Amino acid sequence: MPHDWVRSASRMMNTLSGYKKKVDKVPFFPIIDEQFATRIVGRTAKEMLSSPKLYAKSMIMSAEFIRADSIQLPSAYAGPAEAYAFAEANDGMDLIEWYDYKPLAIKQGELCKTEEDIEKLEIPNHTKSGLWKTTYAAAKIIQKKTKYPQNMGLGLWSVVQELRGVQAYRDIKQNPDLLLKLCKKIFESQINSYNAWIEEVGSCSIILYPAYAFNRHMMSFQDAMQFEGQFIKKFQDKIKVPFILHNCGTSPYFEEICEQIEFIAVNGSHPLDIEYWIQFQKKFPNITIMGANIDVSREMFSGTALEVKEKVKENILNLAPTGRYICGPICCLPWGVPIPNILAIPEAIEKYGKYPIEK
Ligand SMILES: [Zn+2]
Repeated sequence: MPHDWVRSASRMMNTLSGYKKKVDKVPFFPIIDEQFATRIVGRTAKEMLSSPKLYAKSMIMSAEFIRADSIQLPSAYAGPAEAYAFAEANDGMDLIEWYDYKPLAIKQGELCKTEEDIEKLEIPNHTKSGLWKTTYAAAKIIQKKTKYPQNMGLGLWSVVQELRGVQAYRDIKQNPDLLLKLCKKIFESQINSYNAWIEEVGSCSIILYPAYAFNRHMMSFQDAMQFEGQFIKKFQDKIKVPFILHNCGTSPYFEEICEQIEFIAVNGSHPLDIEYWIQFQKKFPNITIMGANIDVSREMFSGTALEVKEKVKENILNLAPTGRYICGPICCLPWGVPIPNILAIPEAIEKYGKYPIEK
């Protein structure tokens, strides 16, 4: 049976909006990046990204293979691809490292090593960036072929880490003004990438935002608000579409951030205690939970398919009765996760995730 992407899109959108009556079953939202896709399509990351057509085809093939209800391009997000754009615009392509079976990466902390590097840092023009041009064109192809609306991601701290490295954590105390200068430039660059997306792809109805500053082991909540949170608010002022909060850290400030910034959904796996997520849902009944305690490095990684199914069942029975639950492991599906363990998720959804769901 061909994959019904129109139905998948409606399943996702209606769950995000809380229209339980219009949803047949719990949607499946995996994060597919190069580590997983290269395995399915049998091509290296560089080959996959060598043409928009091949890239689009590879991502559709990967998503359909695991019966996902979502499809998005891994490079349409502010991690390595944004670092790549900065490297291109600042004569730093020698810092980019390609890998066969995982995403490209920049040598962390090298592009903005000194104060002068930050002062002189040029904002990339995304319509001129090779990688972004491929991304925009691939998004258009996917949209045309599947009718599944393509969206992009934004994210500030993830790029700070790429450009400034661990020095950024020292800057928080020693040189906050310099760090803010870098944050502002990254903000400007992301607005540029968003505008280029609208121009090239047509629309963006939702933003997936990885807010990596918001982890207890990294900085105080107050610092996270200063170096990332205030910029999320600025993005929301300019881009008037709903935001999904992604945070795959191990000690996220989910409650604190949701009290200050509006999100329609949270996508995270920690804390691993299901009780936390039950309480979270009670406290924020209008926020859809995407994931909860299904972490890619535990049952998914070293357990059996049966153990994965049990985990999915636990999440569905506890969180899906309200209709605001989307199932998915977090974060990216790594190379080492056995494929039967991934396929166990849509199988368990089929078994336990059809509405009506009673606890
Ligand atoms: Zn993540």
